[in-house]
Order: sequence, then structure tokens, then C-alpha cells
Amino acid sequence: MSDRFRTPEADAWIGRKIPCLDRGFVYLVDYMGGDASIVQAARVSYGLGTKNVSEDRGLIRYLMRHQHSTPFEMVELKFHVTLPIFVARQFIRPRTANVNEYSGRYSIMPDEFYVPPAEHVTFQSKTNRQGGAECLDPAECAEVLRILTQEQRRVRAGYDRMIELDVRRELARINLGVSQYTEWYWKNDLHNIFHFLQLRLDPHAQHEIRVYAEAMAQIVRAVAPIAWEAFEDYQLGAERFSRLELEALARLLGEAEWPDAAHVESAFPEVWREVNAKGELKRNRERDEFLAKLARLAERRRQ
Ligand SMILES: Cc1cc2nc3c(=O)[nH]c(=O)nc-3n(C[C@H](O)[C@H](O)[C@H](O)COP(=O)(O)OP(=O)(O)OC[C@H]3O[C@@H](n4cnc5c(N)ncnc54)[C@H](O)[C@@H]3O)c2cc1C
Repeated sequence: MSDRFRTPEADAWIGRKIPCLDRGFVYLVDYMGGDASIVQAARVSYGLGTKNVSEDRGLIRYLMRHQHSTPFEMVELKFHVTLPIFVARQFIRPRTANVNEYSGRYSIMPDEFYVPPAEHVTFQSKTNRQGGAECLDPAECAEVLRILTQEQRRVRAGYDRMIELDVRRELARINLGVSQYTEWYWKNDLHNIFHFLQLRLDPHAQHEIRVYAEAMAQIVRAVAPIAWEAFEDYQLGAERFSRLELEALARLLGEAEWPDAAHVESAFPEVWREVNAKGELKRNRERDEFLAKLARLAERRRQ
């Protein structure tokens, strides 16, 4: 029996370019595994047999909730990405990725530079150093776009002239700016891709890298849909509370009526109130864990 897991949904993304920014793209070159290989790996460590999709889903969600991350490392995705160098500087920070980049030492750099659309030419925010605020007025915006494109043309003309003079390519390229497009193969495992996406899908991440993260997210979702759902539920859409915040929460809820198991189940009947064929309430680890958290919060309230 072959242990090679592939799905038509994931295969459909191979070689299918998703355009990003004005000249970039990302596509899936290849992938290894998916939800089935996460379950397979977990089964080795826990000795759990897998019986059906709903049990696989429960297992994957359990692994994600408890940060049992190594089964997610069994899935790998390899992307081909073309991107401006300033985006590549951020993209390269996840240290677990395997990267092979286009070489300006050996090859002529493509005549491709990023120019933002007018709606992204915004003022520096006064409150958030990473962000922009509202747009410049149309005349100022046109001036900014003119500065960007003129500088790019000037630097490129210098590069082309040095290439004509047969200057070493590794030297001729040194004035090219960070709006210059580059390209690379970028491969990583699912656990670390989730970490990358958590950081770069965040609304505070720079718009230009978020565009790539959103494109990659579509592909990741197709490769491992159950793991993606768990990632959305327990990481992307989750909030972490500090000790002080939990104490504040416990005090704020001090006077409130405390929810019991029945309240909790009625809040999420489709997830937490599963019944078996005999109509009996099925054991649900996620519900039990939530009730345990509520009990711990109630304990803080009493302190
Ligand atoms: C919004 C935002 C703003 C940022 N601003 C800046 C900035 O101004 N300047 C800047 O330099 N960076 C900046 N960064 C980059 C950031 O500091 C991290 O380097 C980057 O996000 C990678 O995160 P990581 O180290 O968790 O990931 P990875 O490198 O993928 O590491 C994954 C995990 O493995 C661990 N790990 C990996 N390698 C090692 C190692 N050798 N030793 C110990 N632990 C290791 C990490 O601790 C981490 O938990 C920014 C990132 C974001 C998202």
C-alpha cells in the first residue's frame, strides 16, 4: 500500500499562478502530504487507529489546540515566488524555510520594479510606525509615483550601460533598489508555514507581503483543509490572555451569572453537543477543555 497522500483539490493548484502586486506571482510547485499525513504521523506517536473523517478532524484539532506540532511538519509545500526585494527581506525571516533565489551574479536582473497603486500611497501614521493612514492628495500622489518610477528608470539605465560595458554582473547590480523584482523557490513545512501566515496575514503586516500571504493561504487551505480550519480556529482567530488580563476578566465577570455545561453546549450546539446513534451526549474533548478553562477562571474569581 502506498503512503503517498495526494488530493485533486491540492493537485489543481500545481503550476497555477496567483498574480501578486503589479508584476509578481506565487504558485505551488509541489507538495508532500496533507491532512492524512498529519493523522498518520500522530498515529505513530499515539498508537491511535483512524476510523473516519470526523475522528481525523477531532485528532487534528486536538493536536493544534495542544501545540503538538511535529505531525504538521510532515506536510511540505514548495512555492515559486516572484516578489520585490523589500518584500523578500521580510519573507526570508522564517529561518526554517529552504530558499533558492535567482542570482544577479550569474544572470541579468529582470527589468521589473514594483510601483504601488495610488491608493497605497499614504501618509505615515502618527500612531503606528508600521502603518499608513489616509492617501495623499492626487497631485502629491502623482509626484510620489513619478519620483519612484523616474528613480527606477535612472538606476536601470545605469545597470544596462554597465552590462553593455561588460562590467561584472555581480558589480553592475549593486545600485538596483529594493523595488527590483527577484524570484525564488521557497519550501517549508506546514507548521512553520502556519507560523509565517499568522504573522503575515495580520492586518499590521505590510500590505505588500500580506498579498503574498493571502495567495499562499488559498493554496495551503486546499492542501490541508482540516488543518487549515484548526489553524483558523485556534491560532488565526484566537486571542491569548495574559495572567493580568485573566485576573481582570475574572473580576469583571465577578457579578455575572456563571455559564454551566448546558449554557456552553447551547452556545455551540453544532460543535459541542454531539449525540451518538442512541441519542446520548458524546464525549467532546473541546467542550470539556472549555469547561475546565471556565472552572479555572471561576477559581480566580474566588481568590
Ligand atoms: C510585523 C512584523 C514586524 C517586524 N519587524 C522587524 C524589524 O523591525 N526588524 C527585524 O529585524 N525583524 C522584524 N521582524 C521579524 C521578526 O522579528 C522575526 O524574525 C520573524 O517574524 C520570524 O519569526 P520567528 O523567529 O518566530 O520565525 P522562524 O525563524 O521561522 O522561527 C520559528 C521558530 O523557531 C525558533 N527558532 C528558529 N531558529 C532559531 C534559532 N537559531 N535559535 C533559536 N530559536 C530559533 C524561533 O524562536 C521560532 O519560535 C518583524 C516581523 C513582523 C511580523
